[in-house]
Amino acid sequence: MSNSFDELVINYHVTEICNYSCKFCYAKWDRPNEIHTQGYNAELMLEKLARYFFNEAGNKVKSVFPYKSVRINFAGGEPLILKNRFSQLIIKAKELGFNLSLITNGHYLTKEFVDNYGALFSMIGISFDSQSADVRKNIGRIDRKGNSFDEVDLINTVERLRKINPSISIKVNTVVNSLNYQESFVGLITQLQPDKWKVFQVLPVLNNHLLVTDKQFTEFGEHHAQLEGVMVIEDNDAMTNSYLMINPQGRFYQNSSTQVGYQYGELILDVSVDQALSVCEINWETFTSRYQKPSTDNAIKLISNNEYIFKQNEQLASLSQGE
Ligand code: SF4
Repeated sequence: MSNSFDELVINYHVTEICNYSCKFCYAKWDRPNEIHTQGYNAELMLEKLARYFFNEAGNKVKSVFPYKSVRINFAGGEPLILKNRFSQLIIKAKELGFNLSLITNGHYLTKEFVDNYGALFSMIGISFDSQSADVRKNIGRIDRKGNSFDEVDLINTVERLRKINPSISIKVNTVVNSLNYQESFVGLITQLQPDKWKVFQVLPVLNNHLLVTDKQFTEFGEHHAQLEGVMVIEDNDAMTNSYLMINPQGRFYQNSSTQVGYQYGELILDVSVDQALSVCEINWETFTSRYQKPSTDNAIKLISNNEYIFKQNEQLASLSQGE
């Protein structure tokens, strides 16, 4: 079986800040000094990453994953809350040769942003957990003014993105929790026709808010069985892409394999990329073996509670999804 992986994905959690306050949000890094606030340091970090990842010689990641392109997947928190600063970073990343994708709650995916920058992205993933305003409010998917991104916003935004960028891949991410596990998304997803609808079981990352049982989660999947072609329960990207994660401070990090929590590397700007990456090395073997497994794209696979800790890393990459 081929070991060639087309695209290396770097999840850059550019900020921890979000306009929503979902009760199950895992995007907590203790508010480090975010690198995008430090002059041009975020741009310098992107330049340093480009020099490393687009260079064959001495690139130890490429020796393990023979990727052909590199995508920066901007995630948060909510990246779009950074407004103009975020625009500066995506323009810089694009100029450097990275493919771009974005995970967002959609709230600031305005007409203006879509018209100006929608063409830069190969994929945009939008988190959407309920068509009920009350449920969104109780989840915490609501801003201080009481506004939240609803299903009409979602439909209109996706339509506009496709008009601006016909080849864009659209993903919708839904976290199944105790408030929405009985909701039907059949009509909405059928109308939207996303490239992928990712469905996650809420994780007890920092607290036990809004948990559902495995049975309830399974039933949610069964109730949406007719969407099997587009619905993905579990993170199948992890099967086909390799990924790295950078926190808002500008450090690579990994989920700890032995406990809930993260392990951080040194600041990317302070050391060589090789050295900054060394925190990830513990997982190279695991990654390699995972990517050699047969693909199970579009297979419905449920995650049991006792796999949670070990699934966190994959879900972070996929949900990044703050999402
Ligand atoms: S889960 Fe996503 S939308 Fe909700 S508070 Fe966290 S970052 Fe924001």
